[in-house]
Parts: sequence; structure tokens; C-alpha cells
Amino acid sequence: MSTLRFIFILLATALLTSAAHAKHISNATTLVENVNVISWEGRQANVLTEQTIAIRNGVIVTVAADLTAPASARVIDGKGGYVLAGFTEMHGHVPAAVSFAGMPKRYADDMLYLYLANGVTTVRGMLGYTNQLQLKEDIASGHRLGPTLVLAGPSFNGNTVESPKQAAQRVLEHVNEGWDLLKIHPGLALDEYRAVAAAAREVGIDFAGHVPVDVGIDVAMTEGQRTIDHLDGYLRYVDAIDRAITAEELKQLVDMTVTSNMAVVPTQALWATLIGAGDAAALAAYPELDLVPQQVREGWLNYYPSQGSSYFNTEHAAIQQDNRQRLLKALYDGGATIVFGTDAPQLFSVPGFSIHHEIRYMQDAGMPLEAIYYTATAAAADYFAASHNLNIGLVKPGYQADFMLLRDNPLASAEALREPVGVMVRGQWLDRASINAKLREIRAAYAVSGD
Ligand SMILES: [Zn+2]
Repeated sequence: MSTLRFIFILLATALLTSAAHAKHISNATTLVENVNVISWEGRQANVLTEQTIAIRNGVIVTVAADLTAPASARVIDGKGGYVLAGFTEMHGHVPAAVSFAGMPKRYADDMLYLYLANGVTTVRGMLGYTNQLQLKEDIASGHRLGPTLVLAGPSFNGNTVESPKQAAQRVLEHVNEGWDLLKIHPGLALDEYRAVAAAAREVGIDFAGHVPVDVGIDVAMTEGQRTIDHLDGYLRYVDAIDRAITAEELKQLVDMTVTSNMAVVPTQALWATLIGAGDAAALAAYPELDLVPQQVREGWLNYYPSQGSSYFNTEHAAIQQDNRQRLLKALYDGGATIVFGTDAPQLFSVPGFSIHHEIRYMQDAGMPLEAIYYTATAAAADYFAASHNLNIGLVKPGYQADFMLLRDNPLASAEALREPVGVMVRGQWLDRASINAKLREIRAAYAVSGD
């Protein structure tokens, strides 16, 4: 059967279905016509021209040329724009659903929206709070607007873990509570870490995040930690904190990573800020800072007031930063699995908007744009297929309808990612006008009051 004929049948079925349930918008077919779709052959980006994407029930059913719309279909004219899969923020943070550390009530929903406004349609939340699972459910069931959430539970660290036995018990508790993965933080002793890893392997749940000092990346790799986030554990492993990392050390780290099949989440932009290698004036001038509550914004701005408040030793910030960038390039050149993360909303990482800064850092390290997009889309697709049985990260039939429509070709310039023409979220279309209106509303809600 030809693809076209198959599609005709598919659309005819959709027509009948929508006639029977005229009110059920979610059952209708949506077509996004006249677009160039960025797809992947291995790690190579491939632009499929003049495509139409058909979506039903939040899932992509067809991507093809020459699709004719049935009368009942909702048609979005892509006007020759470019479709890129929605990004996955692999190290994001998701606020608790209700009143959180004195934040405005609307805070959680606003942060979720900021991700979407920039085409970030999946967030791997890397620190759990109890009512986050409700947030995830609300989003999955369509009762709340936000990116698809894959959530790590509350952190395993020096304060929450007191013995290997209790650590293993806690793994089971997290599985029973419904968390998608376990979050590792600094402070675990080696035997405690091994107990977490063994229990996690036993029940088949991922553990990921930091590498505790007592553990080291070599042990994390052999124990099967799913991702190493932030790269700091790498520099610590070869003790390249206050001196330039050597070519031999880079090779050793890359070989270890590739052999272990571990994925890394670099978070270069955030870490530059944390270690004191950021440009304070440039950070303070980010226009997106007015999209977070005043107390958040002021907390960030006070981070650098004297250039000395960083909790890292900033003395060697420039050397560390250079090491981090060289390490990222070496990992990329060596074929290591890199996934994209910005640690939003941490220091100056406004959800969604932070992708632009991370892209810039990755480009500065020497990664081509194509490779950077790969880390945020297709590499995430591999990760979720392997670990979470989710079809996310590709614009392909059978995948969740999560993508951004861009006016210009993002492979030519990352500027194309700014202000998408629209963002598709599980089949729900957010057009530019509605995104702008919502951003205005958020900005007004967090504007400085008085004088
Ligand atoms: Zn984090």
C-alpha cells in the first residue's frame, strides 16, 4: 500500500472519528504544512523539504510530502519554515506544584511555560519534591500546560543517607512513590553509593546526577550511573583544578566515557557562572531576567556583587573554564554520548531561555550546531527509549508531537531558535501571538512594584 493511500485511509478514519465526537478536539487531525523537517541519519542532520506533518491525539502519525488535508483537519501553514524536535532539558529543575519557598502561587506554572516558550518540551527534573509527581500527572493528562516531565526523586546525599542499608531501603521507597530516576548529590560515602547503585540495578531504576567526591567517575561508570552531570567530577578525577588539563588526561577521560557508555550533561553556561568564570555584567543584562520573580532575580544578581561570593574558589576559574571547554570538545570528538542540560532555573538560567546560552558555550567549545541540536533531541530520544520507554525527541511517526517551528534554518545559525513561530506540545499548538501574550503577562506579574 502506498504511503499516500495509507494516509488517505488514516485521515478518512480521523474524519469519521471527529464526526462522531465533534467536541473532542484532541481526536482531530492537525496538519502542519509546507515545512522543512530536520531529521537524523546517524548523527547527521538531514533536511526533508516541503513536508507535511500530521498529528492525532498528540502523536505524529505521518511526515510526508504531498499530503492533502481532509476538510475536517486543522491546518497550520508552516510557510516554508523549519521544524526541529522539541528540546529536552536533561538537567532541569521543576518547582513544587504549590507554594514553594515563599514563591508566588503562579511560579510553577510560569516556569513550566517558559520552557515551552523556547521549544523545550521535555524536562528531566533533577530534584524531587513530593507534589511534583502531581504536576507530572496533571501535564500528562492535559490538565496543566507544561513540558513532559521525567522526574528524579529527592536527593541522595550526605544528609539523607546514613548507612548503606538505609540507602538501599530508600531506593525502594522512591520506586514505590513513582519517581522515574534517583538523584545523586555530593556527600555519599563510597559504600552508601554502591548500595544505592546495587539496589537501583536490582529494581531497574536509573540513578544520575553528581559524582560524590568519595566515589569518583571511574566507580560511577562501573556502577552504571546513567548520566554524569556538570563535568566537575571529571576534572576532579585527574585533579585538573588549578592547572591546565593535559592531552593524555583528556584522552583517558574520553576513553573511560566511551567505553562505559555513560552520557554526560555538561551544563557549561551554568557552571561558568558557578565557578566565577561568567561575565557578571553580561549575565545581569540578560533580557529574560524579568520573567522570574523579583526575589529569584535579586538572588542571582547578588551572587556576583563583589566577585567573591561564589562558593567555589574563583582563583582558578579561568583555568577550570578552559579545561571544561576542552574536555567537552574532546568528548565530542571522541564520540562520547552528550546530552543537553542547563540546570534551569539555577543562577541566570531562566527556563527555556537558558538553552541559548548553553548553545553559545557549546559552540565556543568547538561543537558544530548540528551536533549541539543532536544532544538536545535525538540523543535524548535514545536516552528516553532506553530508560523510560518514551517516544520523545524526534519528528517522526509514532513520536510525541513536540516540536518548534522556526522561520529560518537553525543549522545555519542558532539565532533561528529565538522566538519560534510556534511550539507544538503533545499536539497542542502555541503560536507566536499567544506566546508573546503569555510572556507579557508573566513579565507584568514579576515587574518590580512601586517607585
Ligand atoms: Zn541541578
